Amino acid sequence: MKIKRYKKVNKNINFYINNFGFRQPYQLLVDGTFCFAALNNQVNIADNIPRYLHGETKLLTTQCAVMEMETLGSKLHGALLILKKYGIHKCGHEGKPVAGSKCLLSMLGNHNENHYIICTQDRDLQEKVRNIPGVPLLYLHIKTPNLEQPSEASEKFAKERLSGIGEIEKVAINKLKTEKGLLSQEDKPKKKRKKGPNPLSCKKRKKPGNLQNNNIKKKEGQPEIEKKKRKRIKIPQHVQEALLGLFCWTSFGIYFCCPFL
Ligand SMILES: [Zn+2]
Repeated sequence: MKIKRYKKVNKNINFYINNFGFRQPYQLLVDGTFCFAALNNQVNIADNIPRYLHGETKLLTTQCAVMEMETLGSKLHGALLILKKYGIHKCGHEGKPVAGSKCLLSMLGNHNENHYIICTQDRDLQEKVRNIPGVPLLYLHIKTPNLEQPSEASEKFAKERLSGIGEIEKVAINKLKTEKGLLSQEDKPKKKRKKGPNPLSCKKRKKPGNLQNNNIKKKEGQPEIEKKKRKRIKIPQHVQEALLGLFCWTSFGIYFCCPFL
């Protein structure tokens, strides 16, 4: 297989894996038209398709698809034998079989919950399948299997779901983080930077008070001595008056006791 083709298949199958939860073994829902085309072009479905998809596959069909082939006569006998080899999934039409295309569509439902890959050459069925999101379509182009690129419906559904879940999840996660106090620095809204020159590229302004201090170089290893501020003790007024009186009396006593001084 050419690299370009390999990349294309990988891209398409990964779309369904990532957006719609497809997993191996891939469930291939095959109808009579696909088996008929494979037989005509000598394509071995059981060998070629897993190799093409690079993964394990389960080949499946429905009872309605088999019964439709049986009613179409001997020309399709070979295709019928191939189809009968595959596993039959219950379609819910037991006792009241419907057309193969209708049955396959009913198996898909609205969102293809069982992750089927539809293998058909029926153009009408292909058109209807494209309108259901999350349904890969596989058909044969002569001898070459071709997994069609995701339809518009699938792309749209995947985009809407991703954007919706993303927003809801973000809000819920941030709310929980805020409640638990786990809001990291990255999650917090960033503060706007102040405009102006980069402070790291500018010289620091020298304060006038620091100029004198900067001139006095400290000796290395010498502990910094903190200057203690003197506390001014306020003496109450009555104490001041008492002290003044005491001082006057003392001076007066000294004067009289020592008149010659
Ligand atoms: Zn059915």
